[in-house]
Amino acid sequence: MNVIELENVTKFYMLGETRVDALRGVSLSINEGEFLAIAGPSGSGKSTMLNMFGCIDQPSGGTVKIAGTPTDHMNDKELTRYRRTKISFIFQSFNLIPVLNVYENIEFPLLLQKHLTKKERDERVMKAIEEVGLSDRIKNKSTELSGGQRQRVAIARALVTKPLIVLADEPTANLDSATGTKIIELMKTINATDGTTFVFSTHDAHIMNEARRIVHIQDGLITDDGKTAEG
Ligand code: ADP
Ligand code: MG
Repeated sequence: MNVIELENVTKFYMLGETRVDALRGVSLSINEGEFLAIAGPSGSGKSTMLNMFGCIDQPSGGTVKIAGTPTDHMNDKELTRYRRTKISFIFQSFNLIPVLNVYENIEFPLLLQKHLTKKERDERVMKAIEEVGLSDRIKNKSTELSGGQRQRVAIARALVTKPLIVLADEPTANLDSATGTKIIELMKTINATDGTTFVFSTHDAHIMNEARRIVHIQDGLITDDGKTAEG
């Protein structure tokens, strides 16, 4: 199944009178279970593309399909529900809530899922904490954690909602290279274990080579979609 499909997607921004073409016609399919890197230099359109995948911004042209459904056929309620339950984001600056401890940060997105009981939430949080290797840090505030540990919390928080896809925008940019590599390896292990689809962006050649598929983007165009000639 295609989790996400872009068909000839364009996106431009207006900076005063100046038009900035961030995406100039990109077509790409992401299959369930992929572990994929969007690779390109700063300003090439990586974040804009991830925002299209996550439906947090509208394309200027072209079509974004989610699990086969064009998003322009979905109403606001369906889109909101989709973003809340099917998509998780991981950011380069971690975006944890400083006053909450590790457990509470990871539990946070589940509080919006009213159908879950306290016990079901607890089971999911504890499983995710274990998956990212933070069982001994449950009660720590995020301010008491290293960068690598903070990103592990963010990964656990991304996983508890059991999303269709995890989108990570330069998740290693604020980490030293050894820690960054470990974070990508952790995502890769989770991908192999439970089949969660991961898409991360990076401009770091070492990090992109950890991916099973690399999509290269330059000046808003895909220069190599990482598929072999026979598809
Ligand atoms: P990357 O993530 O690869 O660094 P971006 O997707 O952030 O690239 O940006 C692609 C291009 O679009 C850049 O030229 C950037 O300056 C421009 N851009 C991105 N977001 C905006 C915005 N909100 N307003 C104006 N220009 C933007
Ligand atoms: Mg970016």
